[in-house]
Amino acid sequence: MQAEVGIIGAGAAGGIMALELASRGISVAVLESGPRHDFSRRGEYVRRYLRHENPWTISPPTLDVYTVGGPTPYHLAGRRARGVGGSTLHWEGYALRLHASDFRLRSIHGVGEDWPISYQDLERYYGDAERMLGVAGVPDEPEASPRSTPYPLPAFAFSYSDGLFARACQTLGIAFHHLSQARNSLAYDGRAQCRACGTCQACPTGAKASVDLTQIPRAEATGNTQVITGATALKLELDRSGEVNAAVYAQADKVERRLEARVFVLAGGAVENARLLLLSGSRQLPGGLANRSGLVGKFFMSHPAIDVVGRASERVYPYRIGFSTAMSRQFAVAGDRVTQGAFLLEFLNSAGPTPERIAMASGRWGPALRQHVKDEFGHWLGIRVYADQLPDRINTVSLNPRVRDYFGSPAPHIHYSVGRYERAALDRAKEIASKILVAVGLTQIRPTGLSFAGHQMGTHRMGTDSKTSVVNENLRCHDVPNLYLVGGGCFVTASASPPTLTIAALAIRAAEHIAARIRPTRQSEPARAPAR
Ligand SMILES: Cc1cc2nc3c(=O)[nH]c(=O)nc-3n(C[C@H](O)[C@H](O)[C@H](O)COP(=O)(O)OP(=O)(O)OC[C@H]3O[C@@H](n4cnc5c(N)ncnc54)[C@H](O)[C@@H]3O)c2cc1C
Ligand code: SF4
Repeated sequence: MQAEVGIIGAGAAGGIMALELASRGISVAVLESGPRHDFSRRGEYVRRYLRHENPWTISPPTLDVYTVGGPTPYHLAGRRARGVGGSTLHWEGYALRLHASDFRLRSIHGVGEDWPISYQDLERYYGDAERMLGVAGVPDEPEASPRSTPYPLPAFAFSYSDGLFARACQTLGIAFHHLSQARNSLAYDGRAQCRACGTCQACPTGAKASVDLTQIPRAEATGNTQVITGATALKLELDRSGEVNAAVYAQADKVERRLEARVFVLAGGAVENARLLLLSGSRQLPGGLANRSGLVGKFFMSHPAIDVVGRASERVYPYRIGFSTAMSRQFAVAGDRVTQGAFLLEFLNSAGPTPERIAMASGRWGPALRQHVKDEFGHWLGIRVYADQLPDRINTVSLNPRVRDYFGSPAPHIHYSVGRYERAALDRAKEIASKILVAVGLTQIRPTGLSFAGHQMGTHRMGTDSKTSVVNENLRCHDVPNLYLVGGGCFVTASASPPTLTIAALAIRAAEHIAARIRPTRQSEPARAPAR
C-alpha cells in the first residue's frame, strides 16, 4: 500500500486533513482502526442511545482497552469513538473559537505556557473550519475575539428556559449569548435541517456535522483518497535518514501489513497519538519516536466539569431540545487566571430526571405512577460548568505493558488529577451558577459530582523549542521531519472552551503546509465544491 501521505485515524483531524490534501491532487491513504458506521443504520444507533447505551462501541472490545490511575481517574469509555468519523460521530457539536488571550496565558497571566501561534495566525482557518463544518451562530458574545467572516448559518433560537436564564443574568450583570454549533439551523451543504429531536450523540438526520458525512465522502470522491477500515496502526518504522517510511498495521486477521508514504500524519486523538509514538520506540529510541524532549504523553489535559441544578415550582419544559442553545463565556476570559482557571457556563436545555427515571425511582404503579410522573417531570433547570485545566507534567499518557489490546500492544495508561487551580475555578463557578439559579427563583439548588468532558488535549504539545515541545507551529515533529501530529494533543493550554473547532483550524493550516511541501509549485488553494 503506497500513497504520498499516510494518515492514521479518520476522525475530526484526519478527515479534514484527508479532504484538504486530496482536493489538492495529493494521494492519501487513511488507516482507520474502527469500522465504517453505515448511515442507513443510524436508527439502530438512536435506539441504543435511547436505552442509555453507548451507540458507538465496537467489536472486538479489546481493541479499545485502556487503564487509568491518579486521584481523579479519567475514563475514555463514552469519551471517544472509533470508526470513520472518529469522536465526531459522538460529539455534541459545540463549535467555539478560543479567545486571543487563551494563546498567551504565560505572557498575560504568568501561568501555563504561550502557544507558538496567535489567534490572529489561526483566524482565517477558523473561518474555513466554520464553513466546512457548517457552524450556526451569531456574533453576540461581548468577549469574543474579532472575526473576519460571518457564521455560515444563523444561530438557533433561544429556548423557553434560556429566556428564564437571560432575565436572571441581566439582573446580575452576567453576559448571556448564543452557543455556536456545527448543527444545521437550515439545510446546508447537502445535509438536512436539524429537527430538534435531541439524540445528538447519534444524529439520525445528518444535521450535526461529523466528518464521516462532511469530509471523508468528499475526500474519497476526489479519487485521491483510500480509507482502509478496521486497520490499526501498530507502529511507525524509520529509514536510515530518520524519516518515517512505513506504518505497520493489522486488521482482524492480525497479519501485519505496511503502508508506505512520503509524509505521515498521526490523527488518532491525543491518547492514541502518544501511545503510537511510544510503541514506535526501538533500541536507538528507547523513549519512543519523536520523543527526544521526553514530553510525548505528558501534560494531558481535559475540562473538569460540574452541573449545578435547581427545582422550579412551575414547569420549565426541559428535554424539548436535545442540545444547549445559550452560554456565557464572560468568565472564560475575565477575572483571575493566575490562581484560578477560567470557566464557561452552558445553560442546559435538558436537566433533571427523565420521565422513565422518575417512574423507576417511584415504586408506584398504574394511575398513581402516571400522576406522579406528570407532577414531577419538567421542573429542573441546570447550568454546566467547564473549567480550564493547566498543563501539569504529572498528568500523563504512558504504556501499560501488563494490559494488552487485541493485537498484543500495551494499553494506554492515563494518570490524571485535578489541581488547586481547577478546583478554585469550579468553586467560583458553582457560586456564580447558584446565584443565577437563585435569581431564576429555583430551590433545592445543588452541584452534581465532578465529571470530565470528552476532550483530550496536550500529549504532544506545540512549541518553537524542541526541548519543551514535540511539534512545531506547523504540527511537524521536531525530531522527525516527515511526521506530523494533529488533534488536541498539540494544544499547549486547554482554555475553557471545547477544542474541536481549533483542532479543525489547525488541521487545515497544517494541510496547507504539507501540500506546499509536497507540491511546491502548485497553487495552495484546494479544488473544493462550495458549501451551499
Ligand atoms: C460525547 C462527546 C461529546 C463531545 N462534544 C464536543 C463538543 O460539543 N465540542 C467539541 O469541540 N468537542 C466535543 N467532543 C470532542 C471531539 O469529538 C474531539 O475533540 C475530536 O473528535 C477529536 O478529533 P481527533 O481527530 O483528534 O480524534 P477523533 O475524532 O477521536 O478521531 C481519532 C480516530 O483515530 C482512530 N485511531 C486511533 N488510533 C488509531 C490507530 N492506531 N490506527 C488507526 N486508527 C486509529 C480512532 O479509531 C478514531 O476514529 C466530544 C467528544 C465526545 C466523546
Ligand atoms: S437535534 Fe438535530 S443535530 Fe441533534 S440529533 Fe436531532 S437532528 Fe440531529
